[in-house]
Amino acid sequence: MCEKIVALGVYPFVVPFVPIGGTPLENHAAPDALFMRGLLEPLGRMLARAGLRSSDIKAGCGKCGACSTLSAYE
Ligand code: SF4
Repeated sequence: MCEKIVALGVYPFVVPFVPIGGTPLENHAAPDALFMRGLLEPLGRMLARAGLRSSDIKAGCGKCGACSTLSAYE
């Protein structure tokens, strides 16, 4: 899916799942760092090939970046 939206010029801001109390997935485990690295490293290479950088984003989560380490892999 990321390949498709990157090809459209969209920055896929992938964040780790965070379980929230009182929701249906409150007991679902959050992913560990190794799992996220396995997603974000290849996505970062994909973004670099496409010339998409968080520093070029004007607003929103991709610009803020607080909820994901994706920009570190660009
Ligand atoms: S803290 Fe930043 S990255 Fe996280 S939801 Fe808010 S705007 Fe998006």
